[in-house]
Amino acid sequence: MKLIPFKNWFAQLPGLSRRQQERVRQALGPHEPAVPESLQWLQTMPVPACPLCQAEHPYRWGYQAGAQRYRCRHCRHTYTALSGTPLARLRHKARWLTYSEALQAGLTVRQAALRCGIHKNTSFRWRHRFLTLPADRKAAHLEGIVEADETFFAYSCKGQRHLDRPPRQRGQQIHTREPDRNKCPCGWCATALGLPLISNWR
Ligand SMILES: [Zn+2]
Repeated sequence: MKLIPFKNWFAQLPGLSRRQQERVRQALGPHEPAVPESLQWLQTMPVPACPLCQAEHPYRWGYQAGAQRYRCRHCRHTYTALSGTPLARLRHKARWLTYSEALQAGLTVRQAALRCGIHKNTSFRWRHRFLTLPADRKAAHLEGIVEADETFFAYSCKGQRHLDRPPRQRGQQIHTREPDRNKCPCGWCATALGLPLISNWR
């Protein structure tokens, strides 16, 4: 196809219906799926309540950026399952799952950007959005064993003019694994200086 007919054909693409867009994608061969996996997963979730008035049983109201849009029967607000979440208005939905895998693998911002084919600034923004999401969805129920143990900190004499001990150099090991409860574990701190002890380490 020559350039000008191709441009004319290409300009008409946004006017295609969803069914027609799907046929074009199938004709072009395997690329990104018409409905990204992240949106397929969203479609399996229960229909969300209205984020404004919490009313349930909304109307289906077309699509927004590939996601099912709903309209509240009560306040007529339109929304999707992503409205009001940190993932709202994020683009490139087909790469969300890859990005979440990159986050779980502990990749850096730039490495994750390279893996997902996005700009590093986008990767930085996504990182904060993705990490905000679990913070919003706090667990209502905890299981398993939770353990907490004491923590020891070395007494800092920074700025004091008269030390009764040799100055500690950086890089020295000051903590011990089995501290004496009557003595600070670092060996250089309150006990050595004759300062009052913290009576209860627990
Ligand atoms: Zn509503």
